[in-house]
Amino acid sequence: MPRDEPNAMSSDTTTHGNYIGGAWTPVKSGKTFERRNPADTRELVGAYGDSGADDVAAAVAAARIALPEWKKLAPDARAQYLHKAADLLAARKEAVAAALTREEGKSLPEATGETMRGVAILRYFAGEGLRVGGDVIPSVNPETLFFTMRVPLGVVGLITPWNFPVAIPLWKAAPALVYGNTVVLKPSELSPETARLLAEVFHEAGLPAGVFNLVQGGKAAGKALVESSLDAVSFTGSAAVGKTIASSCAGRGVKYQLEMGGKNPVVVLEDADLAQAVELTVQGAMKSAGEKCTATSRAIVVDSLADEFTRRVVDRVRHLKLGPGTDPEAYLGPVISQDAQQRVLKHVEQAKAEGAELLCGGQAGHRPDLAHGHYVWPAVLGNVTPQMKIAQEEVFGPVLAIMTVPDFDAALQVANDVAYGLSASVFTRDIGKALRFAREVEAGMVRVNGETAGVEPQAPFGGMKASSSFSREQGQAAKDFYTQIKTVAIDKAGN
Ligand code: NAD
Repeated sequence: MPRDEPNAMSSDTTTHGNYIGGAWTPVKSGKTFERRNPADTRELVGAYGDSGADDVAAAVAAARIALPEWKKLAPDARAQYLHKAADLLAARKEAVAAALTREEGKSLPEATGETMRGVAILRYFAGEGLRVGGDVIPSVNPETLFFTMRVPLGVVGLITPWNFPVAIPLWKAAPALVYGNTVVLKPSELSPETARLLAEVFHEAGLPAGVFNLVQGGKAAGKALVESSLDAVSFTGSAAVGKTIASSCAGRGVKYQLEMGGKNPVVVLEDADLAQAVELTVQGAMKSAGEKCTATSRAIVVDSLADEFTRRVVDRVRHLKLGPGTDPEAYLGPVISQDAQQRVLKHVEQAKAEGAELLCGGQAGHRPDLAHGHYVWPAVLGNVTPQMKIAQEEVFGPVLAIMTVPDFDAALQVANDVAYGLSASVFTRDIGKALRFAREVEAGMVRVNGETAGVEPQAPFGGMKASSSFSREQGQAAKDFYTQIKTVAIDKAGN
């Protein structure tokens, strides 16, 4: 099993600090943590300050000081900073994507795509600044002008996971900023380098001091941020952590938003285009090593197609190339950490113990060139039944569970029989069944003949049930979280 090894391939010995009040600042605690390349743990990505409560308090104070001037700016003036940040990020896409691959493990084309998604998010929200609007509401008094306006929340804490370390911080920060809030970002301790590069982009875009702040660190820093004097928290991560944030924020009257895990199904019906269903199921399950909240983790297939679908999926998965994200031939890279590797392998073993059949993969990477990374051979499990843990719990790794059902009604029932409800797909040519699936499946994002992927930045993103706190990110929906509504009535002076 690879362990963090001596720093044979390190290139950078600097300890990177936080970005607070417009300046790079060493952490007060003096504590540090390292991030290593999950494809080869001999390579150090970097060393970072491990923030404590004092560091977080300093960042929140800087954001509070910057707030009055920032919120007074016209939305278009705020938007110009986002346009500038978009230009800078686009110009640096190779460097940012390389860092993303080095610290997170996804393939370079996926990392480049994510970086360019970040550029699109910045540009989209720069435009949204001028569309925030309000409503004019008829009054019972004809001489009263009655209208709503949207105003910022104040200082917003952003807590993000490691799996989309460019896109997720930006799809929170960009709307927060354009609508007049100031922010403190606490990225995952497993993806500090891309967060650092994003802070550099905002700095060089000339954002006023304190408008965007970055505190590096793990659980302690996240907890300190949630418990600090913020006006709102936007969190993406696991359901377990999300629950603790919800109760802390609700108890103190702090607005919060949670986007969490998934157990996303594809349903394959008898009239599906089988080749398409196979390819997009494999892609949804195995790209990014299955480390996507929207990853396909269950294929629910009608009996008449089950054998052929399973045979083709297993054949495809057996031939996928596992390797570092820098290998242009690699379909999937390592998982994020040794803990993640162990957790994924344990899920496979547990499934076997409960009676599932391991059809391929499900072991640690055993080729000599993979010996220093956290690799898992992509796994397909057959004979899975809805009661098994593998059919219920989020794995967050390259594992697909295949379940068979007699018909469409049974498929819908199985699809909905989980705690989560993030993304779901159906493969069919029957428009009636497609529409019924869209209506009845319990998922925030539904696709017909598509992968269980996320959505474009102009569309709302989020889940139902345990996947979300009922709010949505991205698109026009973002303003519902990052602004609050003020209702104004203007009457004529005098009688
Ligand atoms: P995680 O919950 O372990 O960590 C997420 C963030 O919370 C990190 O920055 C972490 O340091 C911080 N944190 C940990 N404990 C905390 C605490 N007690 N208080 C405050 N902050 C704390 O999740 P992860 O492993 O980074 O990410 C994987 C999870 O994220 C999966 O469940 C995945 O489905 C989910 N995810 C969801 C979406 C979505 O939009 N729905 C997108 C990506 C990932």
